[in-house]
Amino acid sequence: LQGDVREHVAALSELGVATRLVKRPSDLSGVAGVVLPGGESTTLSMLLVSTGLFDALGASLAGGLPVLGTCAGLVLLASEVLDGRPDQRFFGAVDCVVRRNGFGRQLQSFETELDVSGDAAGPMPAVFIRAPMVVSVGPGVEVLSVLSRPGLDEPTPVLLRSGSVLAASFHPELTPDRRVHRLFASMCGL
Ligand code: GLN
Repeated sequence: LQGDVREHVAALSELGVATRLVKRPSDLSGVAGVVLPGGESTTLSMLLVSTGLFDALGASLAGGLPVLGTCAGLVLLASEVLDGRPDQRFFGAVDCVVRRNGFGRQLQSFETELDVSGDAAGPMPAVFIRAPMVVSVGPGVEVLSVLSRPGLDEPTPVLLRSGSVLAASFHPELTPDRRVHRLFASMCGL
C-alpha cells in the first residue's frame, strides 16, 4: 500500500521467491506469507482500513499466516504503540510494546552492524530510519538481535520472532544481507 515495497520485492526475488502486491483483500488468497514494509505506520493504518485489508489481514494473521514486518511494519504488528496517533490501528500479532520514532527524528537515523546469534551468526548491517524502539517484549517472544549504542540506557531488541511473526525495527531490504528474508522464506515453507 505504501513504503519500500519495491525493495522487499527485489530482496525476495534475489532468493527466488515469487511475490504479489497485496492491495485488496482478494490479493491475499493463496499467499504463503505477507511482508509489511517500512513507510509510515499512520498512513499504512489508514490505507489498510480504507481498502478493507485491515480486517482481512488481521484474520489471516490470527490464523497463522507468516508475516515479516520491518520498521513501520513492526509498529503495525505490535500489541501496544506508544507515541502513535490515537486513531492508528495495529494488529497485536506480536506481544511487544513499541515507541514510534523511539530512536529520534529523521536526522537521528543511523546505520550500524548488529550481532546475530543462531544458525546464521555474524554481524549484520542494519539501517534505522525514524525507527520504532521495542520497549518491552512478552515471554513468548524470541529476541534474535539486540542493539547496544551510546545514548541507549540498555540493549534494545531489534529483531523479534514469535510464532509466525518475524519483525525488525530496521530495514533488512535496504542492505545486501539476505538472512532476514531467507529466515522469513523458511517460515513460509519456501
Ligand atoms: N516512523 C515511522 C512510523 O512510525 C516508521 C519509519 C520507517 O518505516 N522507516 O511509521
